Amino acid sequence: MNKKYAILVVDMLNDFVTGALGCDNARAIVKPTQELLEEARKNNVPVIFCNDSHLKGIDKELDFWGDHAIRGTKGADVIPELPISEKDYVILKRRYSAFFQTDLDLLLKELGVTTVVITGLHTHMCCRHTAADAFQNNYEVIFANEATNAFTKEDYEYGLKYAKETYGAPNYTNKELFDLFSK
Ligand code: ZN
Repeated sequence: MNKKYAILVVDMLNDFVTGALGCDNARAIVKPTQELLEEARKNNVPVIFCNDSHLKGIDKELDFWGDHAIRGTKGADVIPELPISEKDYVILKRRYSAFFQTDLDLLLKELGVTTVVITGLHTHMCCRHTAADAFQNNYEVIFANEATNAFTKEDYEYGLKYAKETYGAPNYTNKELFDLFSK
């Protein structure tokens, strides 16, 4: 069966890059992510933004992390460096996984996607939980190793290692992904 890819851009939001939970490691992946999305759109690979959109005072996750990406605030918007194009899709999530109680699975099925390429923040957390549900819903999972990151190098490396060992997910450079998209 021919493979059909989609890029999942997890939580590249103001609060995660420059705001409440921002860090240098998040800012370091902006450029490679721009390059990857540009190449994806050129090759008609769907780009799906998977964005935290929390309800203040409601979402349990906020007790643990403090307020971030509150629905309707600027912190919950995708960073200006990654403008959403007309052809892109946006999924709003209230938990770590972009599949949990969202219509991501339905969208991927309608698009005929076989393989999700996971990018964004953080490798060992929202990316990892999204990878778990992708795997459990029978999608092949790939991590874009230049376009995902975590608070620390250890968390990043742990996330990639866990994904490989648990979901059989390889991690590829942008160059390797460009080659896959253009096949
Ligand atoms: Zn969150």
